[in-house]
Amino acid sequence: MSTQDDTNINVADGVDHQVAMVMDLNKCIGCQTCTIACKDLWTEGGGTDYMYWNNVETKPGEGYPRGWEESGGGWTDDGSERVAGEIPSREDYGRPWEFNHSEIMYEGSDEPLRPREGAEWGPNWDEDQGAGEYPNSYYFYLPRICNHCTHPSCVEACPRQALYKREEDGIVLVDQERCRGYRYCVEGCPYKKVYYNTVSKKSEKCIFCYPRLEGEGPDGETYAPACAEECPPQLRLVGFLDDEDGPIYKLVEEYEVALPLHPEFRTQPNVYYIPPYAPGQHTEDGESVDVDRIPRGYLRELFGDGVDQALNTIERERQRARQGDDSELMELLQHKNPAKQYRLGVFDDD
Ligand code: SF4
Ligand code: SF4
Repeated sequence: MSTQDDTNINVADGVDHQVAMVMDLNKCIGCQTCTIACKDLWTEGGGTDYMYWNNVETKPGEGYPRGWEESGGGWTDDGSERVAGEIPSREDYGRPWEFNHSEIMYEGSDEPLRPREGAEWGPNWDEDQGAGEYPNSYYFYLPRICNHCTHPSCVEACPRQALYKREEDGIVLVDQERCRGYRYCVEGCPYKKVYYNTVSKKSEKCIFCYPRLEGEGPDGETYAPACAEECPPQLRLVGFLDDEDGPIYKLVEEYEVALPLHPEFRTQPNVYYIPPYAPGQHTEDGESVDVDRIPRGYLRELFGDGVDQALNTIERERQRARQGDDSELMELLQHKNPAKQYRLGVFDDD
């Protein structure tokens, strides 16, 4: 389904340009502002209570839905056949909890505010737990949206062709008129980023805020997706993968420091991550030890073998910048040119 032109860029057949996002995991503080911004805009209606098109999970951790990384879906190694996947249970997503608000607010109870019962799992249940032993325990946050993949197994899985990639920007959408709620897409997505609405009986997913990209403002101005715009540390870059003058192209293709999550699922994600760059371990006395705090093997599991080269490149460029030398990579990662953070109109005249 994907083609190779004279650059290294993979853009799906029939797609003119591919939107993409880069998230710098070194800046995420786990505040969930992105999650709320998305929820507030798109999933407040009936049947959407359990849906987080944007979620932020602690890694290492079970994630949302619980155990999604082992739930199947995606493609075989040669990319020719789909891998069978599972549909997560409602318990895996987490059911809404009932709290003792009425007792505290109206009945004079001095109990602490807490869930009534049945609070045994939910999104972020294992938040900040992480792994490792004191004084070298570790965790980081992983924000996730649909990857608007170049080779999307959700699209292929649908017998009704209800899911499709937009020609102009490669955004993957569900045609609500065509969807019959079979949930093959939920099963087929290895990232579990399609959700079934039990009220409408149709599937729903992240739409990359396409109305904002198309200019919803009073003067037709365009906006980046809400998850990106609202992020306090502004860790997301939004643009087109095939915009060779843009930071996404440079970070993904030139410096190769922005990596897809679980590339072995072979859907060719278009959301990329700058891997976490943690300090080394230290002893209880505070002496530095030359051992990675976040085991490199774990980062390879998440981001593939490219993580070694990516972290080496970041380290090299950090050193250059510290010595007072120019480093384009460090400037890109620090957004020293805010106009480049969201490059959305570059192909408007095509
Ligand atoms: S992340 Fe999942 S839902 Fe999104 S395009 Fe890829 S396969 Fe489809
Ligand atoms: S808003 Fe930004 S910093 Fe906060 S959780 Fe989301 S990605 Fe992380």
